[in-house]
Amino acid sequence: MTSVQRIPGRRLLHSPGPTPLPDAVLHAMSRQPMDLADPRVDANLAAVEAGLKRLLHTQGDVFLFAANGHGAWEAAVENLLDLGQAVLVAGTGHFSESWALQTEALGRRVVRTPWREGWPIDAAAIEQALRDDSAHAIEAVFAVHTDTASGVTSDLAAVRRAIDAARHPALLVADVVASLAAAPFEMDALGVDVALGASQKGLMCPPGVAFVAVNARALARAEANPAPRFYWHWLSRKSELSYRKYCGTPPQNLLFGMEAALALIFDEGLPAVFERHVLLARAVHAAVEGWAEAGALGFFAQDVAARSVSVTTITVPPGTDVDALRAVARERFQVAMAGGLGPLAGRAFRIGHLGDCNPAMILGALGGVEAALRRQGLPVGSGVARAVDWLAAA
Ligand SMILES: *Cc1c(COP(=O)(O)O)cnc(C)c1O
Repeated sequence: MTSVQRIPGRRLLHSPGPTPLPDAVLHAMSRQPMDLADPRVDANLAAVEAGLKRLLHTQGDVFLFAANGHGAWEAAVENLLDLGQAVLVAGTGHFSESWALQTEALGRRVVRTPWREGWPIDAAAIEQALRDDSAHAIEAVFAVHTDTASGVTSDLAAVRRAIDAARHPALLVADVVASLAAAPFEMDALGVDVALGASQKGLMCPPGVAFVAVNARALARAEANPAPRFYWHWLSRKSELSYRKYCGTPPQNLLFGMEAALALIFDEGLPAVFERHVLLARAVHAAVEGWAEAGALGFFAQDVAARSVSVTTITVPPGTDVDALRAVARERFQVAMAGGLGPLAGRAFRIGHLGDCNPAMILGALGGVEAALRRQGLPVGSGVARAVDWLAAA
């Protein structure tokens, strides 16, 4: 075994998932598992399902999987599309492209709308692509709400309007993995047919639980879809028996944690949760503006209104060793942040600011990142001071 040196104090986790766990979530998970017939198992599942429906603002069904976000992607593909059928994937960057590649790997066809770096979904391109599809071969539109690599949040209402304007019957499937419990999202009111998420981001739980919410229209499509599937099958999970709901043993301890996390969210109140995310995101944005004054760093997100409240993607000059910067931040200053993904590898780093987060944590993280930037010789203006100014005045 490699020896791990004790870290004095706490290391701040500012990746955009996994995110830090509240003590109440840790404590809720620190229990013995139960036999599957124990009524407490069913009570926990019922609480989690009810909480997720409330959080998503939906009357639809919620299906949970022992899986990560990629599992939820797979569930959407396998249930909604037969082999060879087509889906339109709205370009948002690394995450839309990953979902598109997974869909193709599963034997379905993908039509892509172009992605403009730093910009949200192009709703006009969706409308055009659907108008061009006069045979209605496209079964669904897949849209990532917040692209965690780009740090950009798209307007799902605009996507819905584009589908309606084209008078196209495609379903709207929204990936809210990185935005749920951070930014407002109301599935039914938005006309989203399927929403999918995962435990380890705004939901403040460990990785390992994925979920999809499905309205009646999408469930009917799934029912009519002859594609072979088993573990991901929504219909076979529509049961009162927890063992069938999970296609086997539920990930009990993770679900104890999720029940506790949902209670924390509703105790704080959703409006307060969203306001806190805006406040902290703006503090990070203020810091980035300060750093950017020296001319080397910048925002990847070009549309100010589309900057995510969950994660900020910060560009660095060519030749910067982003992995070394992250290692210095993590090992010397105890701030864990994320790197650039896909086309942004080596071009950016990312600071997560979602989930169980407060001003002191944000200022600590920004201070550690600023120290690491200076230590690595990157020219930066004073970012932390800007964040302090913002928080003091907000
Ligand atoms: C994290 C993330 C995923 C993938 O989740 P995994 O749990 O890593 O499989 C999918 N979509 C978005 C928007 C994400 O942020």
